[in-house]
Amino acid sequence: MAYIQFLGAAGTVTGSKHLISTGSDSGGSGAFQALIDCGMFQGPKEWRERNWRDMPVPARQINAVVLTHAHIDHCGWIPRLVKGGFRGPIYATPATIDLCGILLPDSGHLQEEDAAFYNKFKKSKHDPALPLYTLEEAQESLQYFRAVQFGETHQLCPEISFRFVRAAHILGSSMVELTLRTNGQTRRLLFTGDIGRVRNHDVAPGKVVRFGPTEGETADILVMESTYGNRQHPTTDARPELAALIRHTVERGGSVIVPAFAVERTQKFLFMLMELMQSGQLPPIPVFCDSPMAIKAVEIFMKHKEEYSEETRRLLGQYGSPIEWPGFTFALTAEQSMKINRVRTPSIIVSSSGMVTGGRILHHLTQRLPDPRNTVVFIGFQAPGTRGFIIKSGAPEVKIFGDIVPIRAQVAAIEQFSDHADTPELLQWLHTFPRKPPATYLVHGEPAASSQLRDTMTKELGWNVQAAQWMQKVQII
Ligand SMILES: [Zn+2]
Repeated sequence: MAYIQFLGAAGTVTGSKHLISTGSDSGGSGAFQALIDCGMFQGPKEWRERNWRDMPVPARQINAVVLTHAHIDHCGWIPRLVKGGFRGPIYATPATIDLCGILLPDSGHLQEEDAAFYNKFKKSKHDPALPLYTLEEAQESLQYFRAVQFGETHQLCPEISFRFVRAAHILGSSMVELTLRTNGQTRRLLFTGDIGRVRNHDVAPGKVVRFGPTEGETADILVMESTYGNRQHPTTDARPELAALIRHTVERGGSVIVPAFAVERTQKFLFMLMELMQSGQLPPIPVFCDSPMAIKAVEIFMKHKEEYSEETRRLLGQYGSPIEWPGFTFALTAEQSMKINRVRTPSIIVSSSGMVTGGRILHHLTQRLPDPRNTVVFIGFQAPGTRGFIIKSGAPEVKIFGDIVPIRAQVAAIEQFSDHADTPELLQWLHTFPRKPPATYLVHGEPAASSQLRDTMTKELGWNVQAAQWMQKVQII
């Protein structure tokens, strides 16, 4: 009997990986097995350790991967899957493929760097520490990607077809509408991936992609994200607050450090800084964008103009490419990055990773967290257990490269930049369904968020909703 099994992003927000099998429980001969997303676990060690475990189905027995978008928690386990023997096609939208082309090799590079660091300082219990996969292995995995356009129906096997519809989360992001024939019946499954902002309102400035998630969907089984299942984004304009934070930091001689995802979030933030400076709300302070990926990401953005929001179009028309702006420096090499460390006058440093799990932001924070004149501004979601979450939650210290770093800098967070729909927006989207899905499984949420969204959906919509459990199997009848 056909089934879905939740291999990740169940009980947590990372490691998205849902197996769909046409076969019996034993994965009997002839069964077609596909993964919807193949993400990496990030955050607490308890979850990260699962990146090293084999899946219940051997990698070589997976026939295909269908990918919703290019965030590492949705695609970052692909090189490991290929390393394990997977040789099938990986279907994604053209923009997602372009973004994976920079994000996956970077992920391999970060893991090699981490392993090398721990081996050098012998700070790992594992001897020697190994990367989950290397940069080369990540590059190797890119050959299996196959482009599928939005709205185009693609046959995976005689029983399963799918098409991508808009998720409006990041460039290229999609939901997967999957049609499965089983026991003489046709079943429609909808995997939402991450769902973007529904309303294109003024208080969510910098919305890069134009479309809201596709409305009027139907599903027999809905597998839906629940990251913000218990929260509402602030409804005020973030820009004056951001400008004030930066001005106060500069007045006391400090610098502003912004951990930001290198793709999309960084570009969005740079445009906002440019606007604040042009309108006189900010003095012209040097801005350093310290991420090797940020320049490449700008190039990919320029290529996929079809996805832009009106605001993105206007900003690009007005200011052109951030790479050419005076006062904005992009650090490509390690030497250029190190130079930023020597800057003693107030500046704004935007660097990745966004959740402080690795990358050059670690060096900037090691150097600048102990100084109370500085400010760290979070502009993205921080998964529990990540360094970003620890710093944001007001901890007095944080461990970086095995050392304890005291946190004396001011710590602030601006929630309006989110690319995830909050609870009212999710409900607004769910109201567009013409009929109730017989079953909904909530994934990609911390337990408190998933259970609250389940209760809200049950109460307000009268739907049959469950929070998915890790490794849970759902028979498709
Ligand atoms: Zn995402």
